[in-house]
Order: sequence, then C-alpha cells, then structure tokens
Amino acid sequence: MPKYVYDFTEGNKDLKDLLGGKGANLAEMTNLGLPVPPGFTITTDACRRFLEDGGLPEGLDEEISRHLTALEGRMGRRLGQADDPLLVSVRSGAKFSMPGMMETVLNIGLNDQSVHGLVKQAGGNERFAWDSYRRLIQMFGKTVQGIDGELFDEALEELKHGRDDLELEAADFQRLVETYKGIVREQTGQDFPADPHDQMRMAVMAVFESWNAPRAILYRRQERIPADLGTAVNVCSMVFGNCGMDSGTGVAFTRDPGSGHQGVYGDYLQNAQGEDVVAGIRNTMPLQDLERLDKPVYDELMKIMETLENHYRDLCDIEFTVERGKLWMLQTRVGKRTAGAAFRIAVQLADQGLIDLDEAVTRVSGAQLAQLMFPRFDGDAKTSKITTGMNASPGAAVGKAVFSSERAVELAAAGEDVILVRRETNPDDLAGMIAAQGVLTSRGGKTSHAAVVARGMGKTCVCGAEELEVSTKERRFTAPGGVVVSEGDVISIDGSSGAVYLGEVPVVPSPVVEYFEGATDQDDELVRAVHRIMTHADATRRLKVRANADNAEDAARARRFGAEGIGLCRTEHMFLGDRRQLVEDLVLASSKEERDQALAALEPLQKADFVEIFQAMAGLPVTIRLIDPPLHEFLPDYTELSVKVALAGDRAEEKDRRVLAAVKRLHEQNPMLGLRGVRLGLVIPGLFAMQVRAIAEAAKAVEGARAEIMIPLVGAVQELEYVKDEAQRILAEVGVEALVGTMIEVPRAALTAGQIAEAAEFFSFGTNDLTQMTWGFSRDDVEAAFFSKYLELGVFGVSPFESLDRDGVGRLVRIAAEEGRATRPDLKLGICGEHGGDPDSIHFCHQAGLDYVSCSPFRIPVARLEAGRAVLTSTDSDTR
Ligand code: PEP
Ligand code: MG
Repeated sequence: MPKYVYDFTEGNKDLKDLLGGKGANLAEMTNLGLPVPPGFTITTDACRRFLEDGGLPEGLDEEISRHLTALEGRMGRRLGQADDPLLVSVRSGAKFSMPGMMETVLNIGLNDQSVHGLVKQAGGNERFAWDSYRRLIQMFGKTVQGIDGELFDEALEELKHGRDDLELEAADFQRLVETYKGIVREQTGQDFPADPHDQMRMAVMAVFESWNAPRAILYRRQERIPADLGTAVNVCSMVFGNCGMDSGTGVAFTRDPGSGHQGVYGDYLQNAQGEDVVAGIRNTMPLQDLERLDKPVYDELMKIMETLENHYRDLCDIEFTVERGKLWMLQTRVGKRTAGAAFRIAVQLADQGLIDLDEAVTRVSGAQLAQLMFPRFDGDAKTSKITTGMNASPGAAVGKAVFSSERAVELAAAGEDVILVRRETNPDDLAGMIAAQGVLTSRGGKTSHAAVVARGMGKTCVCGAEELEVSTKERRFTAPGGVVVSEGDVISIDGSSGAVYLGEVPVVPSPVVEYFEGATDQDDELVRAVHRIMTHADATRRLKVRANADNAEDAARARRFGAEGIGLCRTEHMFLGDRRQLVEDLVLASSKEERDQALAALEPLQKADFVEIFQAMAGLPVTIRLIDPPLHEFLPDYTELSVKVALAGDRAEEKDRRVLAAVKRLHEQNPMLGLRGVRLGLVIPGLFAMQVRAIAEAAKAVEGARAEIMIPLVGAVQELEYVKDEAQRILAEVGVEALVGTMIEVPRAALTAGQIAEAAEFFSFGTNDLTQMTWGFSRDDVEAAFFSKYLELGVFGVSPFESLDRDGVGRLVRIAAEEGRATRPDLKLGICGEHGGDPDSIHFCHQAGLDYVSCSPFRIPVARLEAGRAVLTSTDSDTR
C-alpha cells in the first residue's frame, strides 16, 4: 500500500510533487532545525485517489491515526482533550502556490469542553480561548460545510457595533460562539460537530475537495497549473498569535519582492491569527516595529531569514507566529516577485556568489521579460494625483473604475478597459482581476490577497490606498479633497510608484524596450540586470533567432532587438492597400496580355520592397516566402458585388459583370484549404516567376544580400520540384545564388519529409497551418467559437495555436526533422508559425533540434532568453 502520510521530519524540499510546496518546505525547515510546530502531511497522491474514488483511500484513516497518536505523544496532549487540548490546523498545499484558492481550517479540536481546557492552557485567558472557538466554527462552517461566510461576518459586525475587534471581550466571543452554532444548525440542519476527530476528518476531505472549487480551477487555468496534480494536506499543531499583545502573526520577505533590494520587508499584526494579515482585516504594522516590541524574537527572525535565503539561494517569503514571546515558523517558500525584481535578484544573487550566471538565467522567464517591455506612464504628462497607495505590482493601467468582479467581467467583455476597485480583494474576485487592466484596493499590505495574486498574474496593482473610502454598494470611492470617483470614471494607476490619478495618463515605452532599441545609457539598475542576463542567454543558446517581418521598418527593429535574420517575409502582405487592385487584376486576367501587364506592374514594386529589406538586414539571411494569400482576401466580396450588379440591372458596368463571374468561379467554401500557396503559383502562370525575378534582381542590387526563397503550402515533392526548377533557372539568368526551400505546414509534407528534402534546401515549420490541419481546427474561427469550453473541459490546458501541441503537431515536427535530415544531413530547420515566439514552444524547438525560431520583432528578446533557458533547463529525456 502506498505511504500516504509523512511526518514533517520525514520529508524535504524536493518532494513537492508528493507533499505540495508547503509540506515539502515545512519538512525542510524542520530538518534545518528551525522552530516549526510539529505535524504531518497527507500526500497529493491521497488527494488524487480521493477525487477519483469520491472517498478517502483505503488505509488512510489508520495512517492518519498513527501519525496523530505520535504527534499527541510528542506534544503530551491529545486532540481536543477536555482539560488540556491539542489543537491542529488543517491546511491545503499544492505543488504550485495558489494563494487563497483552497481551504484552511484552524483551531480544530475545540468544543464546549475543550474550550475550557484551552483557557487553562492559556493561563486563564478566556478571551483568547473563546475567540479561537468562534474562529473554528466560522472557518469550518464556511469552508467545510459550505455556509455563506457573510452570515458569520454579519453576526460579528453586529456584535462589534462599531468597536475595533481588539475591544471585544471574552463574553462577546462566548456569545458569538452560540450565535455561530445557531447559524450552523439553521443552515445544515445539524449541530456543529463536537467530536475533534470528526472535525479533522471532515476538514481533510474539504481541503481535498477544494482542489476542484471553481475559483481554484479558474486560477489554475490562468496560471497554467495542470489540473491533475491535487493538493496535499498539512496537519500542524496549533500555535497562537491571538493570545495577547505579546503574541502576533506576520509575513515577511527576505528581500523586497518589488525591487529585489535587501532589507526588512514584511507586515506584522499583534494579537491576531494568520488569516487576519492576508485578509487585511486590520491595518498591519511594518515588520521593523517588531524590533521595538520584542527584540529577541525580532533578532531570531532576522537570523532565520538569512539562513533561509542562503539555504534556498533565493528570495523566500515566510509566515510566522509569535506565541507569548516564542517564534514559530509556519511556512516558507521561494517567493513570488515582480518581473523587474526577478531580473535584479537573479543578478544580485550571482554577484553575491550564491548562484552562477547559468542559474541566474533560469531564474527569470520570457513572460517576465515581456512584462518589462510594457509601457509606463509618461513622467512629463500633466496629471492629477488623488492619492498614493502601495506599489504592489508594477505597470501602468488606465481604465474605468468598477467596484465588483461581475461588473469588471461584464465591461471587459464589451471591450472596455477597467480598473477593479475594492476595499480588499478575496478569492471570489479572481474573475474580475483577470478581466481588469489593474487592481486598486484601499486596505491590505503588499502581502494581501490583491497584491499576491496580481503580482502572480503580472497585473498592475496598487493596494492599501488608505485615504480612499471605497463604497462597493454605492459603486464609488472618495479621495482626499472631496474627489468622488463613480463607476465608469476613468482612473490611472501606477503599480511601480503606487500613485493613483484621476483621468487618463499617457503612457511611454519602457526603458527595457529603449535598451533593446539600442539606447546605450545603462544607469538604470533594471536595464543593467536585463543586459547581464541577455548577454549570458545569448552566449548560451544554440537556437538562432530570426524575425517575421515584411517591411524594412520591422526588419530594422528586429535587427536592433537582436534578430539574426528574417525567417518569414510574407509577400502577400506587400500586396495589401493600394496594390490590392494589381493582384485582383492578375487573378482575374482572362488573357495572357492582361496577365503579363499585371505582372509587369507588380515586379518593380516587389523589387523595391526586397531591396529595402535586404538593406535593413545587411548581409543576414532573409527568407522570402512566395505569395500565399487565401484567395478571398484579394477578391471583392461576392455578396456585395452581386448586389451591386443586380441593383444596376442593365446599367451594370461590363467590368463589374466580368469580375462577378470570375469571383463566382473562384469562390471557395473553405478558402484555407483551397487555392493558396504553391497551388496558386502552379495555377497562375508567371506569378511565382515574377516574384523570384524580383528577389533575384534585388539581391543582385544589394551588396551581401542573402536571399532564401521559400515555397508555401507544399504537400508533395512534385509541387516543389516544379517551382524549384523554374526558380533556379531565373536565379541563374540573373546571376545570383539563393537557397530554395519549403514551408512544412501541411501534414502530408511532414509525413513525406524524406522525399521533400530531396528538393528542399531548408524547411520552415508553419505551425499555424500545421496546427490547423493536424487538428482540423479552422484557425480563424475555433478560438472564439469553442476554445473556452475545451479549456474548461481540460481537452487542452492552453490553446494549441498559442503553445505548440507537443504530442500531435510536435510529433509531426519531429518526424519531419528526422526524415528530412536523413535525406539531407545539412538541411536547415526553422519554425515561423506564431509558436516561434512562445516560451514553451521554443523549448520544444530546441529539444527537437531545430536551427532557429522566427517570431514577430517584439518577441525577439523573449525568444533569445528562452532559447538560452532551453539549453540550461532541458534534461536528457526532453531531447529524446
Ligand atoms: C504558418 O502557417 O504557420 C505560417 C507561418 O504561415 P501563415 O501564418 O502565413 O499561414
Ligand atoms: Mg501558413
């Protein structure tokens, strides 16, 4: 039988798959000799079994009992023992942190008898014991029994009657316990379970079940956390931060998660339990103040934080509790950080010698780099600042103020930019946070729910803007000076400085983009960190990075961003706008003369385009793809033209009639599977030849130009052979050399790559079409039509148009690469579909042995970084 329960002394930080992040790190801290309250972890394996079978797996009850007995032995008291109770917390903890998404129940073991035992244990502190008991009923009722939490909150508010919670007395809490028990009875038809073992068992099952709570599912989808991991459950002996002013609870970072600077960063709340800090119930004090309150505890905490950072060699965040002057560590993990801090911290740790540069590169991601390339507010703009809160998650966000998650979702769906404004957020606000451009709260610190979740999502967030009076009911907030902002009013928030502005503030590009653009000034710490990381990633990567660009401007930007060539120049893009008419003339030409005339008009325009691009790329390879338009994009709309001709009746122009007849003849039900790519080139005489000639002439005109001619939509080697023979004849006539290769974007091409490589000097995977045709998904329709349902059902975790489907499309890529190279060992391999700029797909391309990825100019830095990371993070099994 598998082992389902691990004592904290049995695990370690590398067992996250089994014990979840929290359990693995509690074990690690225990083994480091840090003060962790004893406890045990029930594995994710048990959770998966539970979710599959709908009940606790066989043997688990007994195993839990054994570990509980051992825990009771160590603590010298039994769970819920009437005169001297052991109390435990039951906490979720998945492999990946999902802040606030799953359940936790504290104070398990309390009932009408053991509450008196707790009073004794706490030296006669009645207030503390009754407060703990009412918290148990409240949390248990809400999370285990599914009772609406508002009912408990309202009862508490009524009892407080305007008082601060510190002013409440033992008798108040005792009364609240009775009220809460009444709520439970009323809502469930049963008494609150008094048996401590029942409480624990039910809580464990509720935590397991919370893995599939709607908000947890939504969070996982957003963060791309696999749905089948399950959560572990940590059962931990309780320590109390709420037994007097010499107790408290706090959260801290070993360095600033916003800037990466070393120092003391955290919040502390006296006489409170853990959830009070995160929920922003009362405003916390800065951690520094603990030094004044309790110097020995503060000093010990500082030492532990140093130990943790050196041990994990990274920024850690921690949760701790002080129980009557004794420090307890409740959690640690490698902490979330902003994108900018990730780069700074990686370089700082390398400078400190804690990690090397290879590791520094793995500590950042392409997604973080992309975030740093977002624009910021224009510092010179005239602004009207209404307040400043905490700079919880950087970025510049502008939008209409909304005061509920539902409204945020609604307006965002209608295409509006919104800022979600709340007193504080809770996990139910997740959908609104995703929909909003940014989040603004009036309460809670940098470790509040809003801050942690927004940072994780890379969403701009200002929190704890205490001067704002937020009324969600009236859908407005007031700011100092009588400013009132109502729903729909535009505000701007700066997540880097914490400033909140009335109206729209203009935004400017980020310094990181300016650095990539070639700005040499490196006095910005962030830019210096990005430079160090990028330099090392470039030195490490094997994949080359090229750009998808079809004009000189994009080509020039791509080069500045580090492109080592153009991997896809889509020539049909050169025929849009004014030139569309010329293509239309060509397609509709009814005689050789008309066709030659149209081609003759196009050739000089094409040549001029190519000259500019070759010049911009200054000797780097430029892959030019011959025209691949879905035909309908170049012809007038059939319905519109029919109506025009019908309305004109006898007076209809002869040209319109002719065009209509031609459009009718060429009309396709499935243009994406129709007369496109090489098929068009074979059907319309002279079209490809004109393009090849224009490329050759342009290459001849620009010193050092390196052209590569690419044929689209090839499915059979014969298609390619026709075009290649003609292309080589023209190249020879003009007297230039160029490689001739093909896109691999039709499944048949991938499956016959060995034959196609006889004719092709390079392959470039067109994974947009390859995905479309492998899955049979119309690339223009399906994402809007039903992908949200597919994501919900878990058919895939991410759209295959966004991130390459390794099992299906990826398999075709591997087959084509292998069989193509078997025929032609020096066959050059690249990718130019959208996936060329997607981090996960880039790792795949590295593993599959491609030579380069090609992506849009803006994604080139991301691709360079991820290509470097792919070398450093790939394992042997990945490349197989
Ligand atoms: C592709 O299909 O992946 C590709 C790059 O070509 P296009 O997107 O132009 O069809
Ligand atoms: Mg294509």
